[in-house]
Amino acid sequence: MAEFAMDLNDEQKEVRDWLHGFAADVIRPAAAEWDEREETPWPVIQEASKLGIYSLDFYAQQFFDPTGLGIPMTMEELFWGDAGIALSIVGTGLAAVGVLANGTEEQIGTWIPQMYGDVNDVKVAAFCSSEPDAGSDVAAMRTRAVYDEAKDEWVLNGTKTWATNGGIANVHVVVASIDPELGSKGHASFIVPPNTPGLSQGQKFKKHGIRASHTAEVVLENVRVPGSCLLGGKDKLDERLARAREKAKKGGERVKNAAMATFEASRPAVGAMAVGTARAAYEEALEYAKTREQFGRPIIDNQGVAFQLADMRTQIDAARLLVWRASWMGTTGKKFENAEGSMSKLFASETAKKVTAQAIQILGGNGYTREYPVERMHRDAAIYTIFEGTSEIQRLVIARTLSGMPIR
Ligand SMILES: Cc1cc2nc3c(=O)[nH]c(=O)nc-3n(C[C@H](O)[C@H](O)[C@H](O)COP(=O)(O)OP(=O)(O)OC[C@H]3O[C@@H](n4cnc5c(N)ncnc54)[C@H](O)[C@@H]3O)c2cc1C
Repeated sequence: MAEFAMDLNDEQKEVRDWLHGFAADVIRPAAAEWDEREETPWPVIQEASKLGIYSLDFYAQQFFDPTGLGIPMTMEELFWGDAGIALSIVGTGLAAVGVLANGTEEQIGTWIPQMYGDVNDVKVAAFCSSEPDAGSDVAAMRTRAVYDEAKDEWVLNGTKTWATNGGIANVHVVVASIDPELGSKGHASFIVPPNTPGLSQGQKFKKHGIRASHTAEVVLENVRVPGSCLLGGKDKLDERLARAREKAKKGGERVKNAAMATFEASRPAVGAMAVGTARAAYEEALEYAKTREQFGRPIIDNQGVAFQLADMRTQIDAARLLVWRASWMGTTGKKFENAEGSMSKLFASETAKKVTAQAIQILGGNGYTREYPVERMHRDAAIYTIFEGTSEIQRLVIARTLSGMPIR
């Protein structure tokens, strides 16, 4: 089991520098254009595919890095380039992880390659869990999956919302309820293969930030998928449901919304995205403060500016340490005794919001315009306190974990 280390090893440094080069040379110069266009940056994804950055191999290598630092390092560098474009590149990975974590070997081998496509025909994938009436309250999910035993098919009906790559994905991973009485314990995940009848894109959202990333509703109307599309398989599902029903009967209680606490291991990845955006804004602000002169001297000569930069850098480093710790814990199987995954996401995302706002302030009028990137970074940063569990939900998970109390 890898010891916690704050130094990247030589191989990781090489990968980090390679990613940084891609972020600086390809992502950053394209950022403003795709933000304005509010469209998926297919040419950039294709370029990432050519280099091997957009591929299952690369993502799996980072995901299974035994030190736990592969994913945070990757996220930080790509999101340093630009959050909207980076999300378009890693969004597929988030869906792939759903299959890697719950799928059988056959499902992994069949579906993940189709999520990425190939260099000449790149594809994306979507993970669809949120619904109009089930955001933080995942247990309120209404999308239903009903088994048609005669045909060995599952029939899915419902409306998903906020799905990254929803409707434009080659493969959709859809979470649906099989037994609503069991809350989130009655949920299961399904692969919806390419061109399956009944799946369509609903509204595409016009967003505040990460505008290069496609976000849309996904409508499921009598979507029939083969039995083999249930992730993990039916036997495993039946066993899990039987256990949950037994537990619910014995305890005489409605099964609690466990989903709130199940993302400890994946949350540090979002924290790392936030660190990338925060670092990018801090670097812009530092450079600007050293070169912009007012009253005959660089503005960084004023403590009021310099101390802000000192705080920004301190908070970014603290956020990265929390992210790395949680990611290392997740990879090495340490128990999240104090909701360390949620802590890392909470702190890093709030830091990104604060630091990007401070960067605008340091750039003055220029910071408020689209001539400079910090305005975009500030809009982008707002997403980190919302998706993959809002800051309030992180606090709820942390407070419940620390206290053992059912805090509401
Ligand atoms: C750009 C974008 C991309 C996304 N991508 C995906 C995706 O790919 N797949 C997917 O499934 N989902 C995705 N989401 C959905 C995202 O995870 C949800 O938006 C998020 O979980 C919050 O749900 P909600 O928007 O319904 O807010 P709500 O749950 O309605 O929350 C509204 C407010 O109430 C607060 N609140 C709610 N409950 C409590 C409570 N118990 N205590 C204190 N405060 C509370 C929240 O913190 C928030 O401030 C995405 C969202 C966005 C905006």
